[in-house]
This record gives sequence, C-alpha cells and structure tokens, in this order.
Amino acid sequence: METIKLSVPHLGGLEKTYVDEAVESTWIVPLGPFVDRFEERLEEYLDTPNVVALSAGTAAIHLGLIMAGVTAGDEVICQSMTFSASCNPIVYLGAQPVLVDSECDTWNISPHYLEEAILDRKKKTGRFPKAIVAVHLYGMPAKMQEISAIASKYGIRVIEDAAEALGSKYMGKMCGTLGSYGALSFNGNKIITTSGGGALICPDEDADRKVKFLSTQARENRPYYYHTTIGYNYRLSNVSAAIGCAQMEVLPDRVARRKEIHHIYEKAFANTAGISLHTNPSAEFDSNFWLSTILLDKSIVQRTPDELRVFLLERGIETRLLWRPMHMQPVFYNAPYYGENCSESLFENGLCLPSGSILTDEEVRRVAETINEAVGAG
Ligand SMILES: *Cc1c(COP(=O)(O)O)cnc(C)c1O
Repeated sequence: METIKLSVPHLGGLEKTYVDEAVESTWIVPLGPFVDRFEERLEEYLDTPNVVALSAGTAAIHLGLIMAGVTAGDEVICQSMTFSASCNPIVYLGAQPVLVDSECDTWNISPHYLEEAILDRKKKTGRFPKAIVAVHLYGMPAKMQEISAIASKYGIRVIEDAAEALGSKYMGKMCGTLGSYGALSFNGNKIITTSGGGALICPDEDADRKVKFLSTQARENRPYYYHTTIGYNYRLSNVSAAIGCAQMEVLPDRVARRKEIHHIYEKAFANTAGISLHTNPSAEFDSNFWLSTILLDKSIVQRTPDELRVFLLERGIETRLLWRPMHMQPVFYNAPYYGENCSESLFENGLCLPSGSILTDEEVRRVAETINEAVGAG
C-alpha cells in the first residue's frame, strides 16, 4: 500500500505543454511571456489589478515589508503561530519581530493581543511598530476587518501572509487582497505550485512597478547598469511561470477538492469524542482548507498528537504536528511576546491531516477510519 501523503503537487495536465513551449521559445531566462500571463491569471482570479510574480513566498513577504517602509531598528508585529518564513524577513531587514498569540477560533493573530502589543511597544520604545504580518494559517482567514481597523487606528501597515490561503475568502473577498500587501506561495506543497515561487499583491500601479524594479536588481532604465537602490534577484522565472499558468487553469478545482476532503473528515469525525476538526467559525469565513487539521482532547484521547502521528505513519499515513509558534523557537526567544497560551495549546494538541487534492475519497476515509480506530472510536 502506498503512503498517503500530507500534500503533494497535483498537476493539471498542461504543465509539460507550457514548459515545452517556454523551452522551445528559448525563454528559459527570468522574465518572458509566461510571467506576464501568470500574473494576469492571478489578477483575474483574485479580482485585483497589481500582482507581481516572485521567486518565493518568503521573497514576497520580504518585499512587502520593504514596501511598508520597514528598515533597520523598526519593530514589526508577527503572528507567533506560523511557519518561520512569515517572521524571518523581518530579521533580514535588521528589524525586531514582536510576536503575538493566536485566538482559539481562527488560530490566527488575536486582535485583542495585537492592540495590547501595539500600545505596550509604544510605551516601552516611544514608537509604534512599523508593520503587522497577519497569517491565514492552514487557509483559515484571519479576522482582517478587526486587524485592519486596529492597524489603521495607529497608522500601521498590514502584510497578509496568504501563502496557505490562495482561494480562501473573508467576508466574500479574496485573502491576500485585504491588507496593504498580500503574499502568496507556490511552493511544492501549497494549493498550487510552480515548483517554487510566490507573488506579492500590491495596492496600486506605483507599488507594482516598484516591486518589479526591486525584484530585478533595482536596475535603472539606462543603457548601462546604474543603481540608486539595493535590489534583489526575486523575480519568478519564465519556466516556473509556465507551470503556474497550467496550475491556474485547475485552481478552482483544487480549492473545491480541498473543501470536499475537509467535508469527508467532518462527517467521519462527527461522532468521535475527543477529536475536533478545525472549521470555519462563522459564515464570514471561507477557508480553502489547504490542510485539514484536528485538535485532540487530552482528557478523552489517550495518545498525544505525536503518538497518533507515529501510529498513522506505521499504517502508511503521513501527518504533521502543527506549526510550533515562533516564541517557542530558540532563534526568536529574545523577541517580545504578547498573549497567553492559545498557540502553545494548539501546538500541543493539534495534528495536520493528509489534505492533498490528489487524494481519493477512499483514501481520505481510510485516514479518518484509522484515526477513529486509534482513539478508540473505530
Ligand atoms: C510556505 C509558507 C511561506 C513561504 O513560502 P515559500 O514560497 O516557501 O517561500 C510563508 N508563510 C507561510 C505561512 C507558509 O506556509
């Protein structure tokens, strides 16, 4: 029996055709017609005009922070419970991360502790943090309306880390288009992939132009190389964009399939004591369910999440513990932290389940049945 993986690339069929086209036209260099086309497809899908294709989601967050005006010595608030790539670019810029706890319904940055952090930083340093990195974890939208209201009250920019949330909506609007800047990732395990890649959703044409400029070595328009700014080699390659164009054609199917998989889990765990599936807290939230995740109730389930992970692995099923919060990472121990222990408790009790759109209904049901068996509900 083959291992059921957490999330693997799912090709649509036209990837090879488009890559061949890119190779034959010798556009195997960065930039080329597929990059433009990929950006257009993203702009149509997201219903927003200024999307720049980049080499990674991490690069998108880095440039988003630069565009928000973050420089050395600034403080930047970041959701603690996330992948390190949300937070690392703050340090690339010589700025200081300030970590904030999640709230237990969305698992994303708590508006309450966000405001507390802003006010306390002002009190302690005399300045407001320069930006906020809000993450839509596992595809679940953060409470962007409250977050944006707090941010604008203090004149702070919000960078949405929508790396896991392409296709998710909050109050009917696409995640990634709700903050000042929105970052997407097309890494191998994300909802669609370009093998490696990302994009930055920009608020206007000027920002779009500036991000393209910064991501191509900040090369001025002169016959020789002339630089007035530090640049980056962050543009997406034409070959990767060719894969991205094929993936955009199947994106709506991929989002629909992840939601179906979540629904299968929902039905399977409906009567399982001790297991709760992470679901949309209310009608305002429309997660793409990039990964379906569960919490185990310690008082009922005998196994810890890691023991359950091993139990499943022995039966050919790959799962993963939740993101370990940044304030629990040695590399960020010195960063100020605001909150209680919501993210710590999520990390201690949660597990990510196989959720790739490539999985069959039968495979998903096998995962659910094996979990039910492991917790004594089978
Ligand atoms: C994947 C991911 C990133 C980074 O994207 P890359 O394309 O791998 O650089 C950033 N933030 C979150 C939350 C992610 O899941």
